[in-house]
Amino acid sequence: MKIKLCGVRGSFQTSDAETKTFGTRTSCTMVVEDGELLILDAGSGIQHFNSINFSAKRVDILLTHLHMDHILGLGFFSPFFIPEQEVHIWGPKTSSQSLRTRLSRYLSPPLFPVLLRDLPCNLFFHEIGNAEFEINHFKIKSNYIIHPGPTIGFRVTGNHSVFTYMPDHEPALGRNGMIRNPKWISGFDIALNADILYHDAQYTSEEYQGKKGWGHSSIEDALQYASLCKVKNILLAHHDPAHSDDQLEKIYLNIKVISEGLTHYEVAKEGNEIDLP
Ligand SMILES: [Zn+2]
Ligand SMILES: [Zn+2]
Repeated sequence: MKIKLCGVRGSFQTSDAETKTFGTRTSCTMVVEDGELLILDAGSGIQHFNSINFSAKRVDILLTHLHMDHILGLGFFSPFFIPEQEVHIWGPKTSSQSLRTRLSRYLSPPLFPVLLRDLPCNLFFHEIGNAEFEINHFKIKSNYIIHPGPTIGFRVTGNHSVFTYMPDHEPALGRNGMIRNPKWISGFDIALNADILYHDAQYTSEEYQGKKGWGHSSIEDALQYASLCKVKNILLAHHDPAHSDDQLEKIYLNIKVISEGLTHYEVAKEGNEIDLP
């Protein structure tokens, strides 16, 4: 299984030279195995798709939720404009609106010139919450997790490895911080023993104090969460757009000291590819 990090920036795209090492584009990750592809989220990082050689009749996009930084790239996703191309979109609905209706709010004027219904491709919508399903040979489990609005995380099982994806997640939200009882930890079932957990690590602990309830995690909480869920590696992502490359380097120098004995971590960088057995 190969994990391609196409967009690891949180909240909104950055443009200045000071953020280009870790990456400017918002959430999008591709999972590739046996020539089959899954696209997780459709932030501006989905532009990397246009540079890969893709000719399959069907493509699948799995959306964790519909905040703009996770769907912004949809309007520029080239398969949308190819007649006969099958595009399957998986994601959460609300109690009153279908997934299609929710996405139409972005893919319609005045926010976007082309209406969703006028796209020439063959579009299929799959509404999911707590679910188990298969796409080609991938086995996927989705669970609702803590973040404003309906939001799910994904556990993707390939031939020999497990990748869990939770770019926006605040498991420490609550009066007593991180819950330690596995029964009540947000997303525990889909993170447990994963080979790699891709997780929200938007803030430092100090920044998090003023941003509780915004839906994101401190780096320290993300590391604690990974340990509680016994994951083998954690990829720390959804970097705050206010953090320059220099600031991120400094932040992670300090983290190195406090993370002794915790789960092995890597800091997600746009463009990086990770090979799992
Ligand atoms: Zn986000
Ligand atoms: Zn979000």
